[in-house]
Amino acid sequence: MIPISKPFLGEEEVEAVAEVLRSGVLAQSSRVREFEREFARFIGVKYAIAVSSGTAALHVALISVGVRPGDRVITTPLTFFATTSSILLCGGVPVYVDVDEKTMNMSPRILRRTRSEAKVILPVHLHGHPVDMDPILKISKEAGFIVLEDAAQAHGAEYKGRKVGSLGDAAIFSFYPTKNMTTIEGGVIVTNDDEIAERARVIRDQGQTKKYLHEYLGFNYRMTEVSAAVGLVQLKKLDRMNRRRENIARTYMEELDLDEVELPYVAPWAKHAWHLFPLRTSAGKRDLLVEKLNSMGVMARPIYPMPVHRQPIMTRLSDPEKNFLYSLFPKDLRFDETPVAERLTREVFYIPIHPAMSDDDVNTVVRAVKGAVREVRN
Ligand SMILES: *Cc1c(COP(=O)(O)O)cnc(C)c1O
Repeated sequence: MIPISKPFLGEEEVEAVAEVLRSGVLAQSSRVREFEREFARFIGVKYAIAVSSGTAALHVALISVGVRPGDRVITTPLTFFATTSSILLCGGVPVYVDVDEKTMNMSPRILRRTRSEAKVILPVHLHGHPVDMDPILKISKEAGFIVLEDAAQAHGAEYKGRKVGSLGDAAIFSFYPTKNMTTIEGGVIVTNDDEIAERARVIRDQGQTKKYLHEYLGFNYRMTEVSAAVGLVQLKKLDRMNRRRENIARTYMEELDLDEVELPYVAPWAKHAWHLFPLRTSAGKRDLLVEKLNSMGVMARPIYPMPVHRQPIMTRLSDPEKNFLYSLFPKDLRFDETPVAERLTREVFYIPIHPAMSDDDVNTVVRAVKGAVREVRN
């Protein structure tokens, strides 16, 4: 089976991990600091604060930029659930702006029409395709929103020649094994803002400003030295791994220009990180195609099953029987319909794209998609 995604690891990572284990220095220390310096330099920002996951990064970042209970945070309905759960976990109230049909990212046009009051705006560079940031930054400036980018799927992606993660007030990345680079589990907050960086650093580590001096409330969201060592090796390979993704995407774009499937859109201002390769088809054919591909040894998977605000927990937040953390959350949330996101959840699926794929694998995927499309045509 050719998987959708797979980490790209070699002897270098194994050696780096062994070296940490032999050293006996395991928890957050000099390797984490070095990884933070290198990652900040890669993105082109002043600060990087490494944490234990992308979700932890979102949680810390939202608190650090000032989200307090009851504050509204504008975000996208078409994303991994962590984007929304982290808002709720700070007592924030998510507000959903529907996505653009082509980029599948938050639509600046709909955002302008919504005119929501909010403290923070949290767009997601979905699949590694950058959000159209200029209009979002302009609207945010006028409205006084703080801009936090969820770049969990977009390491190395660029918007008009600038790296995503350097465009807003702060950004987060995830280093989960399937992402464009990994630290096993891990995440990072990046920013140019001294105050956001300082808060994030303190909140990640028990709210301590010095050993055993707790001036704030925080978490244990520290990154391990093992993760940082893996991350340092992966970061060196990131451009090469992304070039391989780009290469595979180009082959798919040339070979899979078929009547039954719509290829992913790449905006003229976008350098895509190709975290995932989405294909769009009619709702009736999507699940059939996914099933056929899987039976042919090519893993395929539908996009998120529903817009995040239709997940079961979102209607159960006001029910103490069904919400373990009942007392923490805003109650009686109401959400607008997001018809574009809704439609995309029924029509989009992914095919494999990752740097561990051989040319043979790529050709196998192309043949399988062509074959599956032929079969569902009738
Ligand atoms: C993966 C992901 C996250 C969460 O990152 P973890 O490291 O898995 O906690 C958040 N947002 C998006 C868009 C993601 O894809």
